[in-house]
Amino acid sequence: MKKLYLIFFITFIILISASCGNETAPVLAGAIGTVNEEPIDETVVQANVPVTENTTSASASGPDSSGSNPASVNEPAAIGDTAYGMLIPDQIKHLPYYYPEKSRRYVEYTRLNPLLGYDKAIIYVNIGLDRPFYSDVATIAEPDRIDVLVNKYNKLPDDYEPQLEELPANPVARGAGRQFLRPEAKEAFIRMHTDAKELGLDITAFGTYRSIPLQHDIWNRKVNSGKSIEDVDRLNAREGHSEHHTGLAIDVIKNNYSVENTREFEWYRENAHKYGFIIRYPKDCEHITGYRYEPWHLRYLGEDLANAVYESGLTYDEYYAVYIEPATSAQP
Ligand SMILES: [Zn+2]
Repeated sequence: MKKLYLIFFITFIILISASCGNETAPVLAGAIGTVNEEPIDETVVQANVPVTENTTSASASGPDSSGSNPASVNEPAAIGDTAYGMLIPDQIKHLPYYYPEKSRRYVEYTRLNPLLGYDKAIIYVNIGLDRPFYSDVATIAEPDRIDVLVNKYNKLPDDYEPQLEELPANPVARGAGRQFLRPEAKEAFIRMHTDAKELGLDITAFGTYRSIPLQHDIWNRKVNSGKSIEDVDRLNAREGHSEHHTGLAIDVIKNNYSVENTREFEWYRENAHKYGFIIRYPKDCEHITGYRYEPWHLRYLGEDLANAVYESGLTYDEYYAVYIEPATSAQP
């Protein structure tokens, strides 16, 4: 039996490994944020998930009344949180990142996004994507972890300051001023810079560590410049939510899309993971990461993890939900 579930699990991993670009942006339950609303195919909803459209009235009718109404025989009469779990296929429930307490959210989110299927929907719900960005924000308990996940649902403690070291002048972009990283990221970046240099490429740090108060100022300034909050949020993190606070993120060369036209980009796109870095906000993944494509933003994860994320084809948010969170929450 165990073997069977393992096969299911592997199948799911293969299924979910498709890059973000091939799929439609999912619909948020309740509020619609920056994602596009997709038309929902009601017939698919009904076929996949036998939940009545209005669960309140279903509960009101109560289990006793279902027998007297032949039309509702096939519908669950009362949907409690446990009953939601019964609507989810068994092979999904045996995935290590299935959490029974979230079963209601899984069902509702899959109902809104039938094309996703449960395999992807439970990952998205675990990330928090069934709720608007910046809602349900958790403060990160272990901000010093190299694999720390910082995003629009997970913020660093207000007083968090990592241990930093200053980068020497060579790997710093001209005019970028003094740059600081955590020692692990600094060492890896210097190595990548040096190796690239031998190939005639100049991979430099344009922006690295930013303090939480500085991020607060940047975000406010952008909003006060007349941009909508929605637009600002697509490229600028709110205070405490920026990876740049960790000392593990680097904007390389410059932070605009002209980076894509450089030979440096061509090289680091295929090689950065070997040094422990990933492109954290890939193309067409905004509905998952909460950020537009940022070809310049690298995140240090260490070589093993960066390799694994690169090979998985997943965003780090998804990878974290599938592989890291279950392992972390299983620890005593
Ligand atoms: Zn950045």
